[in-house]
Amino acid sequence: MAIMNIVKYGDPILNSKCRSVTDFSNVESIIEDMFDSMYEAEGIGLAANQVGLNMNLFIIDVTHTDEVEDTHIFINSKITSRSGEKTFFQEGCLSLPGIALDVERPEKIELEYQTIDEKWHKHEFEGLLSRAIQHEMDHLNGIFIIDRVSEIEKIKYKKELKTIEADSKDYQNQSRTHKSKQKFVL
Ligand SMILES: [Zn+2]
Repeated sequence: MAIMNIVKYGDPILNSKCRSVTDFSNVESIIEDMFDSMYEAEGIGLAANQVGLNMNLFIIDVTHTDEVEDTHIFINSKITSRSGEKTFFQEGCLSLPGIALDVERPEKIELEYQTIDEKWHKHEFEGLLSRAIQHEMDHLNGIFIIDRVSEIEKIKYKKELKTIEADSKDYQNQSRTHKSKQKFVL
């Protein structure tokens, strides 16, 4: 078990599109460490670039709801379609500690992805899982929840964003004092 440091807003790895996974040899141990790190940070989803890895890979655990029974691992994912009503829901982010925003997203998505056995799947997701997938896919494409809200809303968090950015650049500062207590943090 290894807990990896969760990188925050301001770290360049969170601003670029992640590379496809071609070598699956160490994916299993990476995923294990990612689950440990996600649980330690009390998140329900985590993208590889949030732990500093440039890989199209993310994990989700929404088993605290009665919607889903298993944890999920998604590799080389691509959203192939979006449908249903657009709704707002409050999201937190492990890379934006202390910030929670009402983000508008479509209800359903169709996702193409690989599992750890390298098999390809195409599946439609809805509900909380769909929302969590969309949040993580945004991370893999360099997009934050703050980029999904209006400029007016973004300005409200200008000070917090600056602080997180400064902390992110300060290698010494890895305190967990900002650890969020919200339920939907990914
Ligand atoms: Zn996030």
